Amino acid sequence: MNDVLPAQIAAWQHLEGTVRDLLTDYGYEEIRVPIVEHTELFKRAIGEFTDVVEKEMYTFTDQGGESLTLRPEATAGVMRAAISNGMLRGARHKLWCIGPMFRHERPQKGRYRQFYQVNVEAIGFPGPDVDAELMAMTARLWRRLGIERVKLNINSLGTPEARRVYREKLVAYFRGHEARLDSDSKRRLEGNPLRILDSKNPEMQEIIAAAPLLTDHLDPESREHFDTLCNTLQDIGVAYEVNPRLVRGLDYYTRTVFEWTTDALGAQDAVCSGGRYDGLIAQLGGESTPGVGFAMGVERAVELLVQAQRVPPAAAADVYVVVNGARATAAGPGLVERLRDGLPQVRFELNLGGGNFKTQFRRADRSGAALALIIGDDELARGVVAMKPLRQEASQTECPIAALPAGVEAALALASRRQG
Ligand code: ATP
Ligand code: MG
Repeated sequence: MNDVLPAQIAAWQHLEGTVRDLLTDYGYEEIRVPIVEHTELFKRAIGEFTDVVEKEMYTFTDQGGESLTLRPEATAGVMRAAISNGMLRGARHKLWCIGPMFRHERPQKGRYRQFYQVNVEAIGFPGPDVDAELMAMTARLWRRLGIERVKLNINSLGTPEARRVYREKLVAYFRGHEARLDSDSKRRLEGNPLRILDSKNPEMQEIIAAAPLLTDHLDPESREHFDTLCNTLQDIGVAYEVNPRLVRGLDYYTRTVFEWTTDALGAQDAVCSGGRYDGLIAQLGGESTPGVGFAMGVERAVELLVQAQRVPPAAAADVYVVVNGARATAAGPGLVERLRDGLPQVRFELNLGGGNFKTQFRRADRSGAALALIIGDDELARGVVAMKPLRQEASQTECPIAALPAGVEAALALASRRQG
């Protein structure tokens, strides 16, 4: 679990701000749901034979004896919220949220036990048009952020019925090679053989590569859904690759699945993953409603931003206020608050905690401010403040207190203009 330190926050805020604007542009509304849910919700939504439910959940019993879990992903909670708040009833919703998720995984670079996801869900939309738009939207996100080293992989998992037929073929295939399966895969052969395809064990890759393909066993409707998606993506101009072995780690997906991967982050190469979950809401006890969505790993996206050197510089102060003398120190806070009232767009940093002139000017310099405002006892006695540009050779000027805040505004404009 990580601390995000002030030195890293510019990248996070830039990412979050860009995501928020983009989602708003596409008509998505923010929803905020609890971090803790009943354990049963995740078991039902994600599936018992998944890595997440089998071994990664932070589960505890509360004082009332209920089993609760820190959410390992957001979709289940958002769907629970839609059901329990009566949001369905044939209505359609485009929702998003951001926040921490918790999985007890083996920590490594790009894989943490608390990590942030941006989660996006469109519910009530059955067609492939929304699938394509979600992918176009993520492609636009990378463009807005200046992230280039990402690729889109897509696949279709078909309907549950088609998957059942395929599942039997797959089980027969893996049974024929049972001696070569690792222990995880042997266990999954009973519970969820499709998940064997998602194995990260290098020794399993050869036998996986030769397994029958789900894409060869799609039902006609899913085939058509997928073909329309591919055509729409081509029409929009979103580059993609069909990856018939993309199955995704959670059980609730149907038809479309997709994943944005990168070659810039080493082994943890998935930055954004999602898909369609037409059966999930009914499975959770809501009225049957189709859904599609994705989750983006924020730490990984932030790392891509940093690598691409697309993090905007951290915001600096505009004006640093130096106070000199007992009367000035007492008058400073009131004067600066009135300046903040008058110039809400200007960032003032008032020198706090004393310090001699030299110390205060060193702080002023480090603050990045373009202008120092000097409140001194002598100046106060004459009814003025002094101002000095910090980023250029220019002499100190004075401004009558009665002429504030306009005097500061003009001096700042001059100091910033010369600086630029
Ligand atoms: P992976 O294959 O890397 O384990 P996943 O299939 O488990 O990913 P999802 O559950 O689909 O991932 O989560 C969506 C995104 O969240 C991933 O694409 C990834 O960017 C991010 N993510 C998942 N698990 C972690 C983690 N432990 N630490 C950091 N980011 C993560
Ligand atoms: Mg995982």
